Amino acid sequence: MGSNINLFKLCSALRVLGYFMILLFAAIVALSYYAVVLITWGPLLFHSPLRLPSFFSAFFVLLLFHILLILLTWSYIMVVLNDPGSVPHNWRHHQQQQLRSDFNLETAPPTPSPAYCSRCQNGKPPRCHHCSICQRCVLKMDHHCIWVVNCVGARNYKYFLLFLLYTFLETTLDCLALVPSFIRFFGGNKNHSLSPGGFAVIFLASILNLAFALSLLCFVVMHISLLLSNTTSVEVHEKKKGVRWMYDLGWKRNFEQVFGTKKALWLFPLFSKEDLENIPALRGIDFPTRSDVDV
Ligand SMILES: [Zn+2]
Ligand SMILES: [Zn+2]
Repeated sequence: MGSNINLFKLCSALRVLGYFMILLFAAIVALSYYAVVLITWGPLLFHSPLRLPSFFSAFFVLLLFHILLILLTWSYIMVVLNDPGSVPHNWRHHQQQQLRSDFNLETAPPTPSPAYCSRCQNGKPPRCHHCSICQRCVLKMDHHCIWVVNCVGARNYKYFLLFLLYTFLETTLDCLALVPSFIRFFGGNKNHSLSPGGFAVIFLASILNLAFALSLLCFVVMHISLLLSNTTSVEVHEKKKGVRWMYDLGWKRNFEQVFGTKKALWLFPLFSKEDLENIPALRGIDFPTRSDVDV
């Protein structure tokens, strides 16, 4: 009992930490915006229109920075606000009724089956897991992400992957875009217009962006391999060595199970109506297995 209470306190603390992470995320974006746009590349665009090479490179950096910023913020909002997928109410009862009519049983079979969550008192569809921070079962749960104060599951995994990808690209761009300031500041160029305060901001933004870019690179590589093998972070531990994973339908179909079939929407946190209707994995209750699709 005591350990339950401690666990509950820990989970509440993690939820509070989550809201702090949103503020931290906003602060890092604001710092990077100030360093890259307001004091480094923006002045080049507006104060040196006659020097064409620096004008065009500034235009290119600023355009790319803003496109990535819009895409990553959009994906972030979608992954924070969208339900990762919850189990329909009384899901177990529905299954039991099905069993009862199938076998013409007077009474439902006794319940203790492995696919039952005693904390939610509901059945667990395949690939569903109970999240102790959200305190509920989440469909095709991948992990609970404190950065997005939400679980990542069947219905928001694509948004999470896009958020990861665009944040990696943006932080990498920030690192590269701030390198010239370092060279000018340390290279003895007397014409640099940076104050020591401005340089401190650029220095801090570079360190933070470099740290994020490097750690995000590991996550991006890991999630690409999970995506293409149709495995969640939870299921990595369930897979048996040497046996091909039952949900692995080949990399192309695995990709479509998460990103949908409409190529025009692959880069955006959106799904077409047909994909939501035709791909059961996006709803998170049933998943085709290798034997269903003959691969
Ligand atoms: Zn549960
Ligand atoms: Zn959760």
